[in-house]
Amino acid sequence: MGLRARLRGWEELTRPVHPDTARVLRERWAALPLAVRTPAQTLGRHAVGCEGTHGVFPKCNLTCTPCYHSADANKVRVDGEHTVAEVDAQMAYLRQRRGPYAHAQLIGGEVSLLAPDDHAAALLRMRAHGREPMSMTHGDFDADHLRALVQDERGRLRLRRVSFAAHFDMLMRGRRGAVRPRTEAELHPFRQRFVQMFRDVRAETGLRYYLAHNMTVTPANLGEVAETVRAVLPMGYSMMSFQPAAHVGDARRWREDYRQVSIGAVWDALEEAVGHRVPWEGVQFGDPRCNRTAFGFLVDGSWVSFLQPTDDRDLHARDRFYDHFGGVAFTGTPPALLALKLLRVLRRHPGDVGVALRWAARTVGRAGGLRRLVGAARRRTLRPMTFEVHSFMDAAQVAPAWDLMQRGVAAEDPELLATQERLAACTYTMAHPETGQLVPACAQHSVLDVEENARLRRLLPLTVID
Ligand code: SF4
Repeated sequence: MGLRARLRGWEELTRPVHPDTARVLRERWAALPLAVRTPAQTLGRHAVGCEGTHGVFPKCNLTCTPCYHSADANKVRVDGEHTVAEVDAQMAYLRQRRGPYAHAQLIGGEVSLLAPDDHAAALLRMRAHGREPMSMTHGDFDADHLRALVQDERGRLRLRRVSFAAHFDMLMRGRRGAVRPRTEAELHPFRQRFVQMFRDVRAETGLRYYLAHNMTVTPANLGEVAETVRAVLPMGYSMMSFQPAAHVGDARRWREDYRQVSIGAVWDALEEAVGHRVPWEGVQFGDPRCNRTAFGFLVDGSWVSFLQPTDDRDLHARDRFYDHFGGVAFTGTPPALLALKLLRVLRRHPGDVGVALRWAARTVGRAGGLRRLVGAARRRTLRPMTFEVHSFMDAAQVAPAWDLMQRGVAAEDPELLATQERLAACTYTMAHPETGQLVPACAQHSVLDVEENARLRRLLPLTVID
């Protein structure tokens, strides 16, 4: 390779933002409804949004009320070959349409029903397409399964880092040791055990991990959210995510009027637990009726926000970040390469160094000062903690709104119009390479899952007759 070609390769490798990412970000921004094109909006400025798999392993071995899966989901056999091929096709299509980098959820069904080799193969296919995968689980599996997932037959790590979102709430039935929990507190030992399992495997193998705690919220457990947050914060998760239930999926498993639980009610419970405001207004993913997110960290059990939206200096720092660093792939890029990319940005915007240092100083001040942070790091009580509430929509709204959108018709009914706005700003996308569609998860679960699972039931029957 000649010198010129090598220099070009080096220039491309250290380019802060891939040209495909820059293009899809521009397209995403242009397609967003005007109302969500705010200075806080992340979509189209830094990220294209999250992604998820569908139609890969819809079966689950717990029974939740509610369950967003269609009635046929549990009649589909878990098949590793089908899963890996589908994941590969969907991720390849997402790479093509949404650029070289995104976070993506390996979601079914229950991921631990896959054989560990198939699970590992699916994660590796996702990474091969530039997706940073997160496996979605009910958390009811053992360390042997985790070891078999991350190690090869010779005991070497084939996955050096994994991300799991573990779903725990009292609406789930069939967990070993807590078949029919009546309170959230009954599940605390299982929540803790899940984290401990990863700690143990890390001590044995050096595995790195990121763990999120997910929880469905209905009128039945809303009153226990605050207590659950207080209990879970010290356990070792790096994210707590809440999903107010919606009337979607298997109607036989709807027990309550889920519309009583709003995104605001869950956030209020979260703030009650944290003991102060958890500001979410500074960073927005998609539509605020769908998502609230707050990035921060724990210091000796106290939560501190990375961004204070009432402070204009913090908002200025955020704006500079979006304008100059938007689209840089912070996760999944090797640290040395990331440093080179950031240096290239700073060479063009040297004033950002001062902005970043002043923001860091304010954040350290909010956390109680450098000495406290250093002490907390020594005591291992310094840890990132992101809070999120993701409020899915009812199928009764999504189905007609999505149908009109497919025909290019804006709804006249205000509720359907609001649904269309939310779908247009969706942060959670699923791919249909066979039809060329990118579909919001709400539309997938409300509309497309029914036919898809009926087809999979025929393709992958539970009982195979020779
Ligand atoms: S999946 Fe539904 S609730 Fe979630 S962001 Fe998309 S449209 Fe909103």
